[in-house]
Amino acid sequence: MTSQPAQLPTTPLSGPQKAMRKLGLLRPIDLALHLPLRYEDETRIVKLCDVHDGDMAQIEGVVTACEVRQHGQRQLLVTLDDGSDTCTLRFFSFYPSQQQALAVGKRIRARGEIRGGFLGRQMMHPTFKAAGGDLPVALTPVYPSVAGLPQAYLRRAVQGGLARAELADTVPPENLYGIGLPAPWSLRKALTFLHNPTPDVALTTLEDHSHPAWQRLKAEELLAQQLSQLKAKRERAGLRAPALKTIRHQPEIGLPLHEKLLATLPFQLTKAQRRVSLEITRDLARAVPMYRLLQGDVGSGKTVVAALAGAICIDAGWQCALMAPTEILAQQHFSKLIGWLEPLGVKTAWLTGSQKAGERRQMLALIASGEASLVVGTHAIIQDKVEFKNLALAVIDEQHRFGVAQRLALRGKLNDADREPHLLMMTATPIPRTLAMSYYADLDVSTLDELPPGRTPVITKVVSDARREEVIARIRSQLARGRQVYWVCPLIEESEALDLTNATETHGQLSAALPGVTVGLLHSRMPLAEKRAVMTSFTGGQMGVLVSTTVIEVGVDVPNASLMVIEHAERFGLSQLHQLRGRVGRGTAASACVLLYSTGDATRLGETARERLRAMAATTDGFEIARRDLELRGPGEFLGARQSGAALLRFADLVTDRALLEWARGLAPIMIDQHPDLASQHIARWLGGKAEYLKA
Ligand code: ADP
Ligand code: MG
Repeated sequence: MTSQPAQLPTTPLSGPQKAMRKLGLLRPIDLALHLPLRYEDETRIVKLCDVHDGDMAQIEGVVTACEVRQHGQRQLLVTLDDGSDTCTLRFFSFYPSQQQALAVGKRIRARGEIRGGFLGRQMMHPTFKAAGGDLPVALTPVYPSVAGLPQAYLRRAVQGGLARAELADTVPPENLYGIGLPAPWSLRKALTFLHNPTPDVALTTLEDHSHPAWQRLKAEELLAQQLSQLKAKRERAGLRAPALKTIRHQPEIGLPLHEKLLATLPFQLTKAQRRVSLEITRDLARAVPMYRLLQGDVGSGKTVVAALAGAICIDAGWQCALMAPTEILAQQHFSKLIGWLEPLGVKTAWLTGSQKAGERRQMLALIASGEASLVVGTHAIIQDKVEFKNLALAVIDEQHRFGVAQRLALRGKLNDADREPHLLMMTATPIPRTLAMSYYADLDVSTLDELPPGRTPVITKVVSDARREEVIARIRSQLARGRQVYWVCPLIEESEALDLTNATETHGQLSAALPGVTVGLLHSRMPLAEKRAVMTSFTGGQMGVLVSTTVIEVGVDVPNASLMVIEHAERFGLSQLHQLRGRVGRGTAASACVLLYSTGDATRLGETARERLRAMAATTDGFEIARRDLELRGPGEFLGARQSGAALLRFADLVTDRALLEWARGLAPIMIDQHPDLASQHIARWLGGKAEYLKA
């Protein structure tokens, strides 16, 4: 029997304590850094004759009427007279004790939003207490909170945290000038002020975070992010990896694999592909693990870049793995890489979750013995049972679909305590510069900024669903030219059933409208074998139209497809639309994308949706689209799995605080080199335990 570990006696947490834990407010410094969302001004009493409709106001007066109205919705109506005018306080839920406190003749102080109206001034559910008593001298902060954590409790906790937290400055004073602060605001001074601002401050400068105290906090936050990323990067530089030297042509061996591959490809690499390949080759040759992001718009040709890296790795006598987020995508990579590399003598293995036990066992054996030098698959690759003989390069396609844990698992697959494999992450969602400078500062980035030649840009049309017939006619004419068509239906989050209905209905409609044409249906809940059969038929050209939910979003490559129709396009995000659109225009044929929007009353197109669709029609530049998407949705969505469990920037805004970001980026290496202790202190203060995620 194992003995129980000694346990500290624990007192159960109260509701508010649990809620604070949920918010991550554990240490005094966490509380001190929990900054107000906004403020309420309780420092003044105003006269009713001076207030305007919509004002937040605090008034004091005597109750002249108090009645419970029974007809209609039960409510308590209280009339308050402050000598200048009267106001009705209206409560829809109330306790008898509150009713007593509001009895006729009581003098009370009430605070709420003033609404003018037919029946005179009103306040709905104001806060109130007995009149008199001191007025606070500072504005009252309102904090981000959750259910079960009252503001009053949180305010006390924050004030306590502020008093106890260790707030000595970590930023060397000589490095503060760069931020352009009018007067040196120490961290302590800035925090004290933000939690208790004096009423004379211009509230807008607190609300838009432009006040010097806010600038200081945002600068600190950005610095913490830069420091932790730079530290992670330097720590990685201390790790070791197999150095994969590129083998050059030697008469006795013949052409090395990557050169053979280049020679057999049916196309020339673009300049961008050559440049990026060189960046990767240089990384691979070093005995330090590569940690590189390859970003390139859809269709920019990332797969062949990955294949070349793989060829170098295999030539050096090591194994290479390529992991994709979906089975369909993995399958496609697999067939593409097999087509390229097997004729050159490379043995390939295939791993997915849905494999039959027998096949799987066979694959595992090939991987463990090292006989298979290239392994392609899904998440199945990182399972414990999968043992590589000598994995030296791992490629992750559509990296944003994978989490930190999965990346870490891949990095542990080399089976060598002292070394790690090189990591190449690929993404078709270009990362806007500010994001790259902040959240991705710890990795090296290669960019494919050029599409292979001969592509004709995709023409995008925004079309009302009322013109569906015309769209179907367009499909007919494309099919008549031997082209193929995608029709994408949205994924309806709340209901997979609805989602399916939508796709099934459209499938039925198109089948009826296009006699003699094979119209396929693909959705996420189909058994894999069926999915595969459908994809094979579409890829092979037997199927004219593919109706699908968004399973085709990533990576599918059918150059003969020349038209993409996206139904309910208003429900998709920009980047998603861009990914989808990237499925066409991959061959030389002129291609088009039709964004169908619904005008049904229930789904009237909102202004932002309209804006989004217009943006899609206006540009095919992935970077431009990514930039707008970032503006519309903020970095949270954008970063997806990379940030799971990690701290997003809470205060700084990458667009408005660009100058602070540049400052932090410049200072981070100086601090790590010259003030390593301050740097560590700064990271711990801001990120606490959250810095761990960066190690992935
Ligand atoms: P993505 O970057 O979206 O993954 P792919 O690697 O799937 O793009 O490439 C898109 C298509 O372009 C594929 O059919 C691929 O074979 C082809 N391709 C890649 N590089 C070139 C090139 N230099 N010239 C012509 N076609 C290319
Ligand atoms: Mg791809």
